[in-house]
Amino acid sequence: RTTTHDKDKETNVQVLLRCRPLSDDEQRLNVPKVVSCNENKREVTIAQNVANKQVDRVFTFDKVFGPKSQQRSIYDQAISPIVNEVLDGFNCTVFAYGQTGTGKTYTMEGGMRNKGGDLPAEAGVIPRAVRQIFNILEAQNADYSMKVTFVELYNEEVTDLLAPEDNSSSRPIEEKPKKPITLLEDGKGTVILRGLEEESVYSVNEIYTLLERGASKRRTADTLLNKRSSRSHSVFTITVYVKETVIGDQELIKCGKLNLVDLAGSENILRSGAREGRAREAGEINKSLLTLGRVINALVEHSTHVPYRDSKLTRILRDSLGGKTKTCIIATISPSSYCLEETLSTLDYASRAK
Ligand code: ADP
Ligand code: MG
Repeated sequence: RTTTHDKDKETNVQVLLRCRPLSDDEQRLNVPKVVSCNENKREVTIAQNVANKQVDRVFTFDKVFGPKSQQRSIYDQAISPIVNEVLDGFNCTVFAYGQTGTGKTYTMEGGMRNKGGDLPAEAGVIPRAVRQIFNILEAQNADYSMKVTFVELYNEEVTDLLAPEDNSSSRPIEEKPKKPITLLEDGKGTVILRGLEEESVYSVNEIYTLLERGASKRRTADTLLNKRSSRSHSVFTITVYVKETVIGDQELIKCGKLNLVDLAGSENILRSGAREGRAREAGEINKSLLTLGRVINALVEHSTHVPYRDSKLTRILRDSLGGKTKTCIIATISPSSYCLEETLSTLDYASRAK
């Protein structure tokens, strides 16, 4: 069976597929590969054995990145044009979607910076986007300002990954200021995250420091609560304000926003869908992931009703999904035969987003 989805110029949703290489351990154990990527034809072929017969399934995407693809080439080919849109005053979102362990965090974060402060080859989308934004604005000698936020969504609860650590041991734990982040809507339907730390940033290195702080907070939470990151989403947002012209005493400010989202592991969707008994437990956890799928389908199909309001993630991203905004989904898969079921489910999900 062949599934083909040609690029639809009408939609602003782009779907990329990235297959990670087998890890050293997997290679040592001779784990069989069932995925082959043809970057030129933008095709992914899955070799499947059904009733002792070899059955291939072929999926087509806007771009396909095989196991040898470099962080830099993904960025240059797919993300760099999106960052240019942001600097032109549009809101854009990049998602990493896929099973846990397939390279979502590697693709989005990768290595942040070398000792000298320059970008390592493993630097992912976030550090590269930050670098490009600064480079362009500096080259234009622009009058700009920038704000970043970094939040985690777990169980439909929003945590600020940039909130300063409160280490004052003199204070009893229950007195530590707890800042729950609540979603509010202003009269015009704009969603505001109340209680969120919005950091104004002035240099690339300042953003890298914030990023490292947020990313390490996420990793800590991960070890405290087993596999939390596989069930949580992280949203890194850069808002750029550029002063354009001054007419009389009127200033014109161009504002664009870039959201870089590392989604919860897609295996959680399957689990909640497949097993009724666990649906309630998993339902809360994955409401955002399920709703995101529905929102993207509605946008791609030009539905009149887009269910933004059904989850926190889609409410937070509401002004950056649909309309004139650009959306890019990077679906990540493993080449291993052990991941076949999850891989097919990711390919199906990503195909439906087209
Ligand atoms: P996820 O965030 O989807 O759970 P990770 O990004 O943590 O997955 O990746 C799992 C492991 O595989 C990590 O050790 C990561 O460094 C490695 N990895 C993922 N993608 C690649 C890739 N394209 N090239 C090399 N290593 C990768
Ligand atoms: Mg991860």
